[in-house]
Amino acid sequence: MNFDEYQKLASRTATFSGKQAEIPLVYVALGLAGESGELIEKIKKVMRNDNGEISEEKREEIKREIGDVLWYLSQISRLCDIPFDDAAVTNIEKLADRAKRGVIKSEGDTR
Ligand SMILES: [Mg+2]
Repeated sequence: MNFDEYQKLASRTATFSGKQAEIPLVYVALGLAGESGELIEKIKKVMRNDNGEISEEKREEIKREIGDVLWYLSQISRLCDIPFDDAAVTNIEKLADRAKRGVIKSEGDTR
């Protein structure tokens, strides 16, 4: 499955009503923040409670939260009319360019 295929399948469950439908981009941006927090919380608890050891159960929970984050990213991409594959490819190209120029560990969004 590529990112565009994922986005198409994920979009089948992107239904917005009420206030969500008026401002879907804001709604999904808030959702991304929430799901990112859930993912980070799972990782925090692995550090706090399990000394950083990721059990199979925790790995499954983290995987599911990664999926939740991916869903919201796919919908932000769709609502901004950015092909999801394009966002992924552009990121890889950006990183490759930075690595080539030796600025991968520097700071700044446009380096
Ligand atoms: Mg979640």
